[in-house]
Amino acid sequence: MLFDELNLPEQILRAVADMGYEETTEIQQKAIPVMLSGRDLVGKSNTGTGKTAAFGIPAIALMQRDKKGVQTLILCPTRELAMQATGEIRKFAKYMPWIKPCAVYGGASMELQIRELKRGANIIVGTPGRVMDHMRRGTLKLDGLSLIILDEADEMLNMGFREDIETILHDVPEERQTALFSATMPPPIMAITKQFQRDPELIKVESKARTVDGIEQSYFEVPMGRKTDALRLLMTAFEPALAMVFCNTKKMVDELTEALVSAGYKAAGLHGDMKQASRTQVLSAFKTGRINILIATDVAARGIDVEGVDMVFNYDLPQDNEYYIHRIGRTGRAGKSGRAYSIISGRKQFYELRDISKFIKTDIPREELPDRNEIIARKTERFSEKLAAAVESGKYSAFRSQVEKLCTEEVTAEDIAAALLGMRLSKDMKNIPEITGLSRREYRDTSATRESGSRGRRGKTVKVEISAGRSNSLAPNFVLGALVEATGMPGKSFGKIDIYDRFTTVEVPEADKEHVLDAMSGVKINGQRVTVKAYEGRGERIEDDRRRGSGRRSKPVPGGRPRARSGRGRPGYENRRKG
Ligand code: ADP
Ligand code: MG
Repeated sequence: MLFDELNLPEQILRAVADMGYEETTEIQQKAIPVMLSGRDLVGKSNTGTGKTAAFGIPAIALMQRDKKGVQTLILCPTRELAMQATGEIRKFAKYMPWIKPCAVYGGASMELQIRELKRGANIIVGTPGRVMDHMRRGTLKLDGLSLIILDEADEMLNMGFREDIETILHDVPEERQTALFSATMPPPIMAITKQFQRDPELIKVESKARTVDGIEQSYFEVPMGRKTDALRLLMTAFEPALAMVFCNTKKMVDELTEALVSAGYKAAGLHGDMKQASRTQVLSAFKTGRINILIATDVAARGIDVEGVDMVFNYDLPQDNEYYIHRIGRTGRAGKSGRAYSIISGRKQFYELRDISKFIKTDIPREELPDRNEIIARKTERFSEKLAAAVESGKYSAFRSQVEKLCTEEVTAEDIAAALLGMRLSKDMKNIPEITGLSRREYRDTSATRESGSRGRRGKTVKVEISAGRSNSLAPNFVLGALVEATGMPGKSFGKIDIYDRFTTVEVPEADKEHVLDAMSGVKINGQRVTVKAYEGRGERIEDDRRRGSGRRSKPVPGGRPRARSGRGRPGYENRRKG
C-alpha cells in the first residue's frame, strides 16, 4: 500500500516522500488507520519493520494546532532510541513547524531539557525514569495529554521500567488513547494492556516478516577458544562496510573490543555500563563509519537503527531465540540485503543454533572459514587493481626518481614493488590466524586438522575433579571419551588425567573451565554418574601413578602441552583484570 492511500494530511505525505518512503510496511499499513481512528492499540512486529513511523506518523496527524501544552508522550527504553525516535518525528513534522518534539532522557542535563520543555514542546519522547523526574518536578505537565505510546514495551519491562510505566499511566488523564508497540508479547505486557488500555485492537505482524527475508545466514564452527581469531579472520576476509558483533555479556564486549582494537581494527564496544557521553560518541562514530565494527550486548543495541550495516556476527549465540531475529534485523534494513554469521564452538552451541534455525523456520547452512591463502590472494588481487589504476593515472610518477635510486644491479624494480606490496598487506596477513583442529567428527576436515602448531600457546590450565576413580574401574580413555563427548572440545584440549582411587583430576584450559563443569554435570562415565567440580588440591594422595591418557595423547603435542603451572605465583591477572 502507498502512503498516499492512507488518510494523511498533505504536509505529512510530502515529508514522508522526502524521506524516500513509498510503500508502507505491514505494521504501518495496519496500525496507522487504527491510530487515526483514536482507538487503543497493541502492535506486535519485529525489529526493523518500521514501527517508529507506524506510530509517529499518526501521532503527528492527530496533533491539534490550537491546543497548548503536551499532547503526545512517547516512552522508549533507552536514550538512543528516544533520540532516534525524536529525529524521525522531526522529519515527519518537517512541514508542520508548530509541532515541537522534545527528547528527555537520563544522563543529560536536566536544565537544558527544562528550557526546551518550556519553549512549547508538544510531543515528548523520553525514557520512563526521566519522564517521571520531570513530572515530579512539575517541569512536565501532562494534564492535556491525549495520546501515549509505549515503544519497545517488552524491552522497557526487561529493563525494569515496569513500575515507572505504571506510575506514568496512572498519572496521565484517563481520557486518552494508549498505543503499545513491542516485538514480543510476554505475559507482563498483556497485564499492562489489560490494566491500562481500553478495548485495544490487536495487530500482529507474523514473526518471520521482513527481517529474516533478504538476510543471508550461515554459521562457522570453530574450535573452542578460537572465536576471536575466527572473527579477525572473517573481518579481514569480508571487509564489512559496517558490522555489528553481538556478545552476551558486557565483559565479553570489553574483551573482544580490546582484542580487535589491538589487532588494528576500527572497532568499539557498546554496553549499558558505559557513560551516556561515550555511548553517544561510539554510536555517532559508527554511523559515520569512523569505526566500522560495533560490538554490543543485546540491550545496548536494541532497536538501534544504523543504515548500511552489511554484516551481523553472533559471537555468542543469543540466549533467547527472539533475540536472534532482533540481532540479524540490524542488517538488511528496509529491504536492503545483508549477511548474518554465527560463530559457534562445541556441540552445545551447535544444538542451540539448530534450535534457532527451527524457530525461524529457516535453514542456516554451515560455511567453511575462508582459506588463508585464498584471502591473501584475493587481497593481493584487489590491491593490484588499485595499483594498476594508480599507475595508469600517473598520479605518483613524481616518485619514479626515488625508485630509480633504490634500484641497483641486484635490486630490481620488481623487488621493490614486491616489498611494497608485502608491507602493505602485512597487517592484513597478520590478522588471518591459522585456525585448525575442529573437534566434531562429523565435520572434521582432515586437511585442516593436520597442523596444531599453535596449540602450545594456549596458555593456562586448571584442574577439575571428577567424582569417580580407580575403584569405579575408570580408565583414562573412558574419562577422555566422556569429556570429548560432553564438551564437544577436541581431545587434545585436555591435559594430564590422573586417576586416583576415588576421584580423577583432569587438566583443562582455564578459559574452558566453566564450560567443562557445565557440560560434565551429571554425565555418566563407564556407567557411573559423576559430579565434576574445580579441583582444590588434596593433601592425601591415595595413589599417584599418573597414568597418561589414551594412546592418542601419549605423543607430545608440538609446542608442548601446557603443563599446569600449579603452585607458581601467576595470579591470572590477564583474565581477571576486566572483572
Ligand atoms: P522498528 O522500530 O520496527 O525496529 P524502525 O522504525 O526503526 O523499525 O525502522 C527501520 C528502518 O526502516 C528505518 O531506517 C526506517 O527509516 C525505515 N523505514 C520505515 N518505514 C519505511 C518505509 N515505509 N519505507 C522505507 N523505509 C522505511
Ligand atoms: Mg523501534
